Amino acid sequence: MSNSENSKPGLVCPRCRSATIEVLTNSPVEGVWTIYSCTTCLYAWRSTEPEENTNPEKYPEPFRLKPDDLAKFAVVPTIPQLRVTGEPYQAKK
Ligand SMILES: [Zn+2]
Repeated sequence: MSNSENSKPGLVCPRCRSATIEVLTNSPVEGVWTIYSCTTCLYAWRSTEPEENTNPEKYPEPFRLKPDDLAKFAVVPTIPQLRVTGEPYQAKK
């Protein structure tokens, strides 16, 4: 049986219910809190947050995601190239 510090068996993502959970980091003072991250939907949460942020049963329904839907989401547009005018910006008077 593996007892890796980078995984938490039995833990599922509150938002998408995937079991693909990683430990992002732990509190500087050992055992105070842990930050988990879901590698499926990228949700992250601290172990000390309220249950509506950490418990899949209490996570608000409108914000839940289905892993199968992630691939269908719209692509976030990239930031366009900056316009080069040669002139420094001047506020209009
Ligand atoms: Zn997730």
